[in-house]
Amino acid sequence: MNQTSASDVLRALTLGLRVNPTTEAYPRNSESRTDFEEVEIDSLERIAQEVFDCQKCGLCLTRNAAVPGMGVREPLVLVVGEAPGADEDKQGLPFVGKAGAYLDEWLKALGFSRQDTVYITNLIKCRPPQNRDPHPDEIQQCSPYLDRQIALLKPRTILTVGRVPSAHFLGGAHRMEDIHGRVYEFRGIPVVPTYHPAAVLRNPDLRPVVWKDLKNLHTLLVVKGLAGPLPTRSTR
Ligand code: SF4
Repeated sequence: MNQTSASDVLRALTLGLRVNPTTEAYPRNSESRTDFEEVEIDSLERIAQEVFDCQKCGLCLTRNAAVPGMGVREPLVLVVGEAPGADEDKQGLPFVGKAGAYLDEWLKALGFSRQDTVYITNLIKCRPPQNRDPHPDEIQQCSPYLDRQIALLKPRTILTVGRVPSAHFLGGAHRMEDIHGRVYEFRGIPVVPTYHPAAVLRNPDLRPVVWKDLKNLHTLLVVKGLAGPLPTRSTR
């Protein structure tokens, strides 16, 4: 092994770079072409920075703060909402304000929290004006960020809250009353759609419906040995 090759290997390993498997790791000929190809490694931090700087759709003109998401890696549950609301746009954090506090109650009822078992994000990272539905072209521009987050996070389950993110995962337009109560799959990950916490705050009749969906989600994790029994004292 010549000195250049050895140092390249060391550098690649130190930086966490992937050595191109099609390239010989130890070329016999010192005059061969570039020994190693640096592969850009994606990261949640890189995605967050791209989201903060993003100008791919018109929502960058009206946002106060882009909201990439928050939580833990390899979460038991990835919660995906539609888009930041007014409070999220002010603070740059997902699911804050009343709906966020209510979502935290749901998670607590399952024994989870965004501090240790959950990652929370949205399909769209910037707030649509007056909280209107995101336009299809905005979803098209923004959803690759979510795809990359899912690839990195490797969530055990996905909980979609609301019609728009649920429809995104299921494909096509759907009404919540038609799709909730069942488990779907996205790239091998179970997807449980349910109502948005803000919708349940507006319509308390949806509480038992959502609780049933949440219990379905919890059961999936129990079956996989990833969660224990439900907490005896919950806030549901
Ligand atoms: S909504 Fe998404 S695509 Fe549009 S500006 Fe914000 S981060 Fe970029």
